[in-house]
Amino acid sequence: MRNALLSVSTSGAQWLHLDVMDGHFVPNLTFGPKMIQDMRKHSDLFFDTHLMVEQPEQLLDEYINAGSDAITFHLEAVTHAHRLVQRIQDAGILAGIALVPSTPIDAVSELLPLVDLVLVMTVNPGFGGQKLIPQCVNKIKKLADFRLQNESRYKIAVDGGVNIETAAQILNAEADILVMGSAFFSAGNRRQLVQDIFNMQRISGDT
Ligand code: ZN
Repeated sequence: MRNALLSVSTSGAQWLHLDVMDGHFVPNLTFGPKMIQDMRKHSDLFFDTHLMVEQPEQLLDEYINAGSDAITFHLEAVTHAHRLVQRIQDAGILAGIALVPSTPIDAVSELLPLVDLVLVMTVNPGFGGQKLIPQCVNKIKKLADFRLQNESRYKIAVDGGVNIETAAQILNAEADILVMGSAFFSAGNRRQLVQDIFNMQRISGDT
């Protein structure tokens, strides 16, 4: 665990994305708040917690107290999303809403002016190493257009199938945050990979 943390912090990446899976909302099981609390003691990275769990409202306080800097939950897992966004923001951290590939942007239009992050899942959540679903890239662009038209402030994060080959189209669709799992940990030179993606961002930002 400490090696993985060190590897992320020395790579130049700024955020640590933490995929919490409960074995219900998604078939896999990962880790809970205790693990995040332990990592918090060894890292100053921005902790971006992605709750892929059923009933996130029941677990929220534990993940806030564990030291998350942002908490993103799935629209598909809750009824009272608005209340949950407020609870997260009231704790003084960023609140994000995540969408699985089959959920349209329209389903969150009422939340978009309120949230700090929108996480677009570009694979069906639950397993690492999947290929990006190309249609999901349109959702990123739609979110970027909505943000411009409605003077919203959310950042757009993309999770699933992000690698050096898919990064350009994701950045062109105006995503702000690229989440990498398998591509990062299988890279020979992780620092170079992160640098290459930052450079791409600069180029696409200039045009
Ligand atoms: Zn994630």
